[in-house]
Amino acid sequence: MSKQNTQNRSVFYLFAPSSRLVSFFLALLSAVLFLSCGEEQNRKQIPFSERVIVLDPGHGFSDPGAMAGEVREKDITLAVSLLIRDELLSKGFQVVMTREDDTPPAGEDDSFSMKPSMRVEFAQSLDSFDLFLSIHADSFVSDPSVKGTRLYYYTGGDRSAERLCSILKDDIHASLARKMPSVKAMSSSEAYTVLYKIRSAPSVLIETGFLTNTEDLASLVDPDWQRRFAAAVADGVAEFFGG
Ligand SMILES: [Zn+2]
Repeated sequence: MSKQNTQNRSVFYLFAPSSRLVSFFLALLSAVLFLSCGEEQNRKQIPFSERVIVLDPGHGFSDPGAMAGEVREKDITLAVSLLIRDELLSKGFQVVMTREDDTPPAGEDDSFSMKPSMRVEFAQSLDSFDLFLSIHADSFVSDPSVKGTRLYYYTGGDRSAERLCSILKDDIHASLARKMPSVKAMSSSEAYTVLYKIRSAPSVLIETGFLTNTEDLASLVDPDWQRRFAAAVADGVAEFFGG
């Protein structure tokens, strides 16, 4: 065997395995790109105009939710939800709300409240929907230093709810990080009826902030903050559906 041959063989052995490795990774990359493009196309095949978002402003009517002095959770959830509705509509989504104001429905008196099970029934009475989004504000009286947005999904529910929480977490954090430093995505136990009873579509509950925290409270009642929060949520929903 000549030196030249040895060198050639060396060269061959040096490059052959890595060539195979490169081919393997190229094939793998093609497969991943193909699959992700397919998934991407699947999501984009359905235009936003055919997507129905059920928006659920927490509490309302005779149920004020959490309170901080004169500030009532039910007013904040409604104000933020109406802004989210407008943002979603401007992106082309269809939006259905469990309530659009604070006036009891016809035939109901001032004692009317909308129990979580009624909200679930409302959603399930629709022909179909693609997302259930519930808006709340939190309260933690024993520790007023606790603050930030919490995003809840039910681990036993539609698996994509976790992905939406992750997107919302990033978008809300990017938009409002200075004022809301602790945006968290977490699984929920069966504490939230609207999360564990809705199985036909992802269901996510947003606790916008803590009424018991001074900084959060100032944000929650600030119309500019509410607008930015709503825009971040709508951006997250659009991203989730492939926008
Ligand atoms: Zn609430």
